[in-house]
Amino acid sequence: MTLMEYRPEEGHKAAVCLECGDEIHYGRPDRKFCSKNCKNAYHNRKARNSRNTKLKVINALEKNHGILDRMLKLGIDSIDLVDMKHLGFNVDYSTSYRKIRRHDEYCCFDIRYILTPTRICSISRVQAMLDADISEKNSVHSHPGSK
Ligand SMILES: [Zn+2]
Repeated sequence: MTLMEYRPEEGHKAAVCLECGDEIHYGRPDRKFCSKNCKNAYHNRKARNSRNTKLKVINALEKNHGILDRMLKLGIDSIDLVDMKHLGFNVDYSTSYRKIRRHDEYCCFDIRYILTPTRICSISRVQAMLDADISEKNSVHSHPGSK
């Protein structure tokens, strides 16, 4: 099953239900489903796939964040990419990216890091976005990125 199951008309052929594959011999020629049940099943599955995709991304991000968080707590700000991958880090998932000079800087929620072809380095916690939200509560102020 592919994401793009829609095919433009194949000319002479009768319409085929996107869900069950039965030919549709009645109704408008551009009908996509043979029945309400098939239509519901199709859209439910699509919604489920979309939710599953989102969950997969969220889980990967949470896993990445947990690993980065552990590194910070251990005082490690640079680590070999192979080791990170062994820990389960997936470089395909991040919450933001920007190019800074020649560096590729990524964020995983509140943790920032630079990705090179062989290492993850300059791991640090981003304080700025939190500070803005709790500006009146300026009790704790740590120094980001001094390590
Ligand atoms: Zn059908």
